[in-house]
Formats: sequence, C-alpha cells, structure tokens
Amino acid sequence: MIQSEPRKATTEEVVAELRRREAFVMVSHVKPDGDTLGAGLALGLALRALGKRVHYFQQDPVPRNLRFLPDADRVARELPADLPADALWVFCDMSDTARAGEFLPPLERENVLDIDHHLGNSHFGALNYVLSDECSTGTCVLRLLRPLGTKITPEIATCLLTTIMTDTGGFMHSNTTAEVLRISGELMDLGADRDEITERIFANKRLAATRLLGAALETLRLEEDGKFCWSLVDDAMLARFGADGEDTEEIIGHLRAIEGVDVAALFKAYDGDVRVSLRSSGRVNVQSAAGRLGGGGHFRASGLTFNGSAEAALAAVREALLAEGL
Ligand code: AMP
Ligand code: MN
Ligand code: MN
Repeated sequence: MIQSEPRKATTEEVVAELRRREAFVMVSHVKPDGDTLGAGLALGLALRALGKRVHYFQQDPVPRNLRFLPDADRVARELPADLPADALWVFCDMSDTARAGEFLPPLERENVLDIDHHLGNSHFGALNYVLSDECSTGTCVLRLLRPLGTKITPEIATCLLTTIMTDTGGFMHSNTTAEVLRISGELMDLGADRDEITERIFANKRLAATRLLGAALETLRLEEDGKFCWSLVDDAMLARFGADGEDTEEIIGHLRAIEGVDVAALFKAYDGDVRVSLRSSGRVNVQSAAGRLGGGGHFRASGLTFNGSAEAALAAVREALLAEGL
C-alpha cells in the first residue's frame, strides 16, 4: 500500500505502484511546455502498452508547436464521468499542485504521484520521484520505463527527446551534460525524430512572433550597469501584431544573451495577469529570486505570477534580484 507521508520515493516503489494501479490521469502544468507534456505523454504511452487506462488533464490547450507529439490530441481539461476513484494522478514537471491550475479537482494524497526535477519541489504526492539533477522531467520518466519493462517505441522516444530539447534549450543550457547527450543519442537510435522536433519547436515561428520579438527588443531596458535586462509584452503589443502568449517564448533568450547581462526578465502583462519569466547567465540564482515572490523554477530559469501592475512587478522583481546579489 502506498505511504501517506510525503517523502522521496525510489524507482522500485514508483514502478511497483505503476504496476499495481489500473487507471491513470497524467497531469501537466498550466502554459504547458515540451517537458510537462512530453513526459506525461511518454509515460502514458508506456502504460497504455501495458493495457492500462490512461487519461490526461491539462488546464490550457496544447500549444501549436507541440501538437505534433504522439497522443497530444488526447490531452484535455475534461475527464470521463466513470473515472475510477483509485486512479493514480501523475503530476509531471511541477513543484506544486497549484501549477496544474484552478480546475484541478480535489485529490487524496494517496492517489498522487509527483514526478519532477525542480529544486523547490514541495513533495505534494504520496510518492515523490523528484530528481533535481535531471535535465528534464522526461529523463526522470525514462528511468522508470526500463524497470517497468515496456518497449521504448519511436513515439515514446520522440516524446522524451522533446522533453530534453525543450529544457536544455536545444542542448544549449548548462544542464546539457555528456550523459544528456548520450541519452539523446540512444533515443535517436530508438527512433526519436530529432529533425521534426527541431523544426516544430525551434524553426516554425509565426510571422507575428518574429514581429513581436522585434518590438520587444526595440523597447528593452538595461539597468544596474547593464547586468539586468528587461522587456514587457502587453495586450496592446499582442493585438498590434495579431500575436498571442505562445508567440512570446523566444524573447527572453535574446535578452539574456546580451553581453554583460546577468539576469533577464520578461514581463508578460496580458490575458488578465502579470507573469514574469526570469533567466540567469549563472551568477544570480533566479529560482530564489522568484521564490521570494511566490514563484519557482531552476537556478537559471524561473517564473512567477505577480499580483499587481506591471510597474509594481518590475519594482518587486528588481528588489528580489538585488537581494540575491544582482
Ligand atoms: P517560464 O519562464 O514560464 O518558461 O518558466 C521558467 C521556469 O520557471 C520553469 O521551470 C517553470 O516551471 C518555472 N515557473 C514559471 N512560472 C512559475 C510559477 N508561477 N510558479 C512556480 N514556478 C514557475
Ligand atoms: Mn515545465
Ligand atoms: Mn522541466
């Protein structure tokens, strides 16, 4: 029987629980990315191959650039009325259940498995498979698949390589270890379509996204002797280019890549709230900075939702960054 005290789980414990349960709900976080979605789809495909019943819960729609993923069309906000009470809810790539959104039904902890690689994971599941050294949640899932005894099909391999390429920024971020490259090679040998992933995720921008990027770069600001770079995207800018939130993805990387910049921030003031993305070049811990304002993430990449105006968000973020040594 599953433990009800929060604690870290071993691979064997998680695999035993996956074998024991018959029905699953894979849960991804709001504003889904290739890691949360790819990890859930990969594990879902493996469980379905074992004859299990698998559903998906995701509050927001699948972004355009991830719709190519196998089984992405099964992902929805609605759940079947006859979902068994003992279905295991598998949360992928989030440090807290709040990241799954407000439509998540109330759950018993004993029915929750938490698979994640975030530093600040709150161990909200009965089983918490939290491996903070992993580059993606997908590689945590990969560690479960072999002992689970399922074949890694080309579809599963594509989902898993997507998680890696998303969270390493196409093998560019510091989490791209030699081991990550070896695993990626193995996934390609198993049929992962690296070309398609690159095309769909990194080289298939809408014209509106590129025009929006231009405007965000034109209005960027440098502060703190050039160590802090920020820009803002609001509803009016999105409307001007016919863009939406999915078209903002690429902007922050350009801010961070400017010579001398230690931290970049993008303020996303649209769709009714102010969300902030933070990226660090390695000197300042932006996970801690985001944590001061109720957010989270990783040392070099974090985010938060701010309760207030964009101006107030800028002041609060600047203060949090200065407190972290910017
Ligand atoms: P983003 O800037 O949205 O790409 O997010 C970068 C990182 O920060 C990811 O690892 C997210 O999981 C994390 N993150 C973003 N927003 C939040 C939030 N509101 N609370 C906790 N973590 C977040
Ligand atoms: Mn994620
Ligand atoms: Mn991730």
